[in-house]
Formats: sequence, C-alpha cells, structure tokens
Amino acid sequence: MDTNTATRLKDTLKRVFGYDNFRGNQEAIIENVMEGKNTFVIMPTGAGKSLCYQLPAIMKGGTAIVISPLIALMKNQVDQMNAVGINARFLNSTLNKTEMNRVKRETLAGDVKLLYVAPESLTKEDNINFLKEAEISFVAVDEAHCISEWGHDFRPEYRKIKSIIGTFGDIPLVALTATATPKVQLDIQRNLAMEGANIFQSSFNRTNLIYEVKPKKQAKKQLIRIVKEHKGESGIVYCLSRKKVEEIAELLKVNGVKVAPYHAGLDANVRMANQDGFLNEDIDVIVATIAFGMGIDKPDVRFVVHYDAPKSIEGYYQETGRAGRDGLEGKCIMLYSYNDIIKLEKFSKDKAVSERENSKFLLEEMSLYAESAVCRRKQLLHYFGEEYNVENCEACDNCQHHQETFDGTEDVKKVIKAVVQTGQRFNLNHVSEVLRGIKSEHVKSYSHDKLEVFAKGDHMDDHHWKSVIRQTLLNDFIEKDIDNPGVFKVTDKGEKFLIDPYVVELFKDHEYESEGEEEEIEREVVNTKAYDKVLFDMIKHLRKEVAKKMDLPPYVIFQDPSMEEMATLYPTTIDDLIKIVGVGESKARKFGKPFLELIEKYVDENDIITASDVLVKSSGMKSKNKIFIIQQIDKQMDLDEIAEAKDMKYEDLIKEIENICYGGTKLNLDYYIDHVLDDERQDDLYDYFLNAETDSIKVAMEELGEFYSEDEVRLMRIKFMSEYAH
Ligand code: ADP
Ligand code: ZN
Repeated sequence: MDTNTATRLKDTLKRVFGYDNFRGNQEAIIENVMEGKNTFVIMPTGAGKSLCYQLPAIMKGGTAIVISPLIALMKNQVDQMNAVGINARFLNSTLNKTEMNRVKRETLAGDVKLLYVAPESLTKEDNINFLKEAEISFVAVDEAHCISEWGHDFRPEYRKIKSIIGTFGDIPLVALTATATPKVQLDIQRNLAMEGANIFQSSFNRTNLIYEVKPKKQAKKQLIRIVKEHKGESGIVYCLSRKKVEEIAELLKVNGVKVAPYHAGLDANVRMANQDGFLNEDIDVIVATIAFGMGIDKPDVRFVVHYDAPKSIEGYYQETGRAGRDGLEGKCIMLYSYNDIIKLEKFSKDKAVSERENSKFLLEEMSLYAESAVCRRKQLLHYFGEEYNVENCEACDNCQHHQETFDGTEDVKKVIKAVVQTGQRFNLNHVSEVLRGIKSEHVKSYSHDKLEVFAKGDHMDDHHWKSVIRQTLLNDFIEKDIDNPGVFKVTDKGEKFLIDPYVVELFKDHEYESEGEEEEIEREVVNTKAYDKVLFDMIKHLRKEVAKKMDLPPYVIFQDPSMEEMATLYPTTIDDLIKIVGVGESKARKFGKPFLELIEKYVDENDIITASDVLVKSSGMKSKNKIFIIQQIDKQMDLDEIAEAKDMKYEDLIKEIENICYGGTKLNLDYYIDHVLDDERQDDLYDYFLNAETDSIKVAMEELGEFYSEDEVRLMRIKFMSEYAH
C-alpha cells in the first residue's frame, strides 16, 4: 500500500472512530479489502472485526453490503455508525413498506455507505432486483461460521449467499468469524468460493481477560460477593438450567442487585425487554442459560461468572469472551465442583450413543482444565491450536498464585511410551488404564496387559495420570489426532524426548475436594481504578440520560475507555475531547456538549488542573504515556521498570508522576516507597511536609538535602499530596 493510502486510512480512523492506532492486523486486513481482494478474517470476540469492513466501506465508492444473522443487533450497529456520522441503513423484516422504499431509494442514490441485510431478506426477489441496480463496493459476511453445519450456529440461508451475490457481478467478499476450527474454515471458503482469499487469523489470546476457577462451596455467598465487588458494572452469570437461572436471579434481586433472568423458556417479549434493559443499563446483571450471549454486543461487560461448570472448553471460551470487548479488564470466574460435571453427564443420558460419548469427552476436558494448575491461558490457547510460551501470564489464578510442581520426567516418558506401545490409537482413559495396570475387558481385548509399559504407573491413581497425560499434551510431546477425537499421537518432540530426555517440571493438580471446609483465602481487593471515580460515575450517569433521550444504547454515545480517559484528563473543550480515545470529530460535536459542561463544572468546583494545563506542564508528553504510567503504578510495577519501558530517565518519570498527581489523580505509590525508604525516614519526610510552609522542592532540599536525595523527597511529596490534596 502506498504511504498516501496508509495516511488516509489512519486519518479516517482518527477522525471518524477516534482511534490513534489499528489493533492487531486490522490495517493489513483493511488494506486487502481496499485492494478489492477476497478476505477471510478470523478474530476472537472483541478484537475489532467490525472496523475491518466499516472503514473500507467509508473509504470506497458505492455501498458495502453487510450480511448479519441477528436482526436484533442490526439496529445497534446502524445506530453506532450513525453516531459517528456515517450513513448506514438496514434491510430486514422489521421495516414497513415505506421505510423499505426509503432505504432503497437512498442506496440507489449512492448515499448509503453500509447496508446491513438479513440473510432472509437477501433471498427475496424484490431485494435481489434492487441490489442488482445498486453500486456495491463489497459484501461482508459477518458470523461466517453460520455457513457450516460444523459450526455452533448453522443457518441454512447462509448457504445461499454466494449464489445470490454471484448474480450481482464480480464483487469482492469479506468473511468474518470468531470461531476457527480448521474444518469450519474450509467449509466457509468452499461455500463462498473464496479458496484463494487471503486469510487473516489473529491470536485467540484475550489479554485483558482474567481467568479464575474457584472451588464451589457456599456458592450463593461466593456469587453475591463477586457481584458486589463489581457493583454498578455489567456482568453475566451463566447457570445450567432455567430453574437455576430463576432462582439465582431472585437471590441477587433480594440482595439489591439490578438483575434480570434470560432463558429460552421466557416469553419472547420478556426476553427482549430484559436484554434491552441490560443494554440500556437499567439492569446490571443478567443471569442466563447459554441461550443468552450470541451476538450480545455490549462492550463493557466487566465480569462473567459460570455459576455451574460449562459444557465444553469451546463454550467456556465463547461465554467468557463476552467480557471486556472494549479492551478493558474483564473477570471470568468459574465456580467449579466435580458434582456439576456428573450432573451434566446425567443430562445427556437420553441422547444417542455417539452424542453422549462426545459430550462426555468434552466434559472431561472441561474438568481437567478446571482442576489443572497449569496457566489457564496456555490451556485455552492450546485448545485452539495456538502455542503460548509465556512463563507467567499474570492474569489467571494459576499464574497469580504459586503452584506446586514436581519432577515429571519419568512420568512423561511413561505416557509417551504408553501412547507408542498402544499404537497411537487410544484415548485418555485407555492410556491411563494401561499405565495403572487395570485389566479391563477393553485393555485385555487388545492384549495391552502384555505391553512392557503396562502397570508401570500403578503406584499412582487415575487422577494423577490424567493430569500428567494432559500436561504431556500441553507440552507438545503428544498431540491430538485431528481425524479421531480423543486419540493421541506422538510428536517429533516426544520421540526425541524418549531418546534424549531432560527434566520436565509438571504441576500438581488442585485438589478441590479435600480443600473442603477450609476458609477460602481472601485476596485483598485493591482499588485498581486510577481515574477519578466520582467524575467517572457522573459521566456514566449523564451518558445514560443522554442515551435515553436519544433512544440509543449508552455505549453508542461513549464507551468505557473513553469515559475513563475523560475522568483522567478532564477535557473541557471540543479539541480536548477529540484527543480522547474513541472520540472522533463527529462524536465530539454530536454528543460532547453536555459532557464538557459537566466536566467543566466539576473541575471548577474541585479546583482540578485540566487536560490542557497538564499537557503544557508535561512538556508535550502525550496523554497516552500518562495513562500508561497510571496503569503501571496501579499494577504496582517498579518505577525503574516503567521508566525503562517508556525509555525515560528515572528523574523524568518522577516529574511526570508529579504532574499526574498535581493534575488531580490520586496515585498510590506506597508499594514502591516502602521498598526504598524505611518507616522512620518516611515519617521524617512526612512530618516535614505536614509542617512546611510550602511544597517547594528547592526549599525542602535546603533543609533535607544532607540526608535525603531529591528523588526521595519528591516521592514522599507525591505520597503526601495524594493523601492530603485529593
Ligand atoms: P468483534 O466484532 O470482533 O467482537 P468489535 O468490532 O465489536 O469486536 O470491537 C470491539 C471493541 O473494540 C469495540 O468497542 C470497538 O469500538 C473497539 N475497537 C475496534 N478497533 C479499535 C482500535 N483500532 N482501537 C481501539 N478500539 C478499537
Ligand atoms: Zn496464566
């Protein structure tokens, strides 16, 4: 792409969407679409698929057709586009004749940049004739996995898309999905006749999600505690049955939570009302069966709780994936007990044998995941065929707390041998039985009791071996056979390991049962919010009012990252506001006024130094840096490390922190100060500032310079100011 186009793309990104940078491979994808090539996008939920067709649609002549399966969501998407000043429309069965004609007229006049079409509408003759006359820039097929019977949401009408749009001429295609098994991928490409398309597959790692599995005990109390920790924030609680959904929703309600149930047994109107309430923020928490979620496009879901164990890892990944679509922190907490797994197994007892076997297999993987002490992220990504070799992800329970390990070299050897000697044709259970020396009918029928490796692991139980086998898999010594679910094969790495072994550390599984009555160790809940919480809440409240008035979901106005930045930088002019992440020109002008007034008033009343003041003071350093620093301090990073990460001198970092502090943001540096100054010295400096006439460093150094360095004095001044001045 020439630099000219690249600049134009970036300009539009900033002007219309208010973002400074593309995320992941958005830019490469957009470039491909701009060049009129077929494009296949596989990106996890929340990674920013929509932008990949919205931006090119704006830049190209003609109208882009977006095929999307969920009529309920089309209005939201169109609202979002209109909010940033782009003319988008939809065509589906909810429109009456007059509205329909208007949409068509506008499209034929070349005024519509994006036209969302339901697959059902696409098959109607009237519409086909209309589209033949329109100038179409490209067709985007959203949720493209609906094409495949192997995907989890098959839609037969999706199979007709290609033959219909084929009649419009040679129009480039963009297929997008968040589900990526290789089989589904192939299906999509074949069906849309886009085998030659460029494929853009993003990592499935959702770095802003924190995964946690808690042993389920006194589950109701646990749940209430979790929900209260997230007071006023959006969350989803998943339960297994409709009955449970009702019960838990009731429980939360009597505990003062703004909550509503959602399951397929509810009347369609009630369901719709509850979903709308959630989107409009009249309702904070939705308690739901897995019927809820597909396409729930609420970007600021801050927590997802699995009150009951999920049925499969894939389902778990999709459900937790609904948290943190806006890129900010999302907590994913599973309350796990093996009893739930047994219950789930019973559910499927009336199903056909193959189906029952399949769900049992998926459940077993789920329970092994829950009980494992290996990094959750590593396990999840491995499931999607992605390698993750980070030592400590720092955002899962297993990485955050030290886990016990043992030397697993010999055990791993045994597992690989067992897989080899049984002919690479057997599953977890069988391999475990052979190792433990169980003479089951199955084992005997293959004469596996005669193998050299038989009973070589009879000193350990089934649980131990299943855990070791899975870790052997996670470490890529063995792999899953794609054609035979559940069957293991040995990898090259595994073969080499047998010849030339080395020490392999394995994790001991959690023993949830025996943790029994023990009190759960409570982790201190630190307030991780660095922005001005009071102002944030005021902005959020105003956003809701404005949204109500305009009949839009609140997040269409501003999203959480934008509001957090507003509550950090206090913009008071339109120009300041445009600098805020996620706020483009159009948005700033359309919605900005009441927010600027609110902030202005707040700033006045609280004597806060505003964004423009701070920017002058900080010698032109970008606000991005500031936010980075605040976030790192929140995470209790060493100041030296922050300075290094930003390529700053330590002294400059301290000065920047001072700016932030004097700009009205409360910073807690105790973790660092405690590290560099003992109590006595801290008290000494604290006393000084408490009694000093001025906070001038120069004056302070005249008195203290003999005993303290300037950095130390500055640090204590920040602490002092944070505690007293805010
Ligand atoms: P997906 O459809 O892949 O689940 P969305 O398209 O809904 O994800 O995008 C998720 C969130 O990310 C949205 O809130 C969107 O505004 C935001 N987003 C998308 N692209 C960017 C970007 N380049 N910079 C910052 N935020 C972005
Ligand atoms: Zn981890």
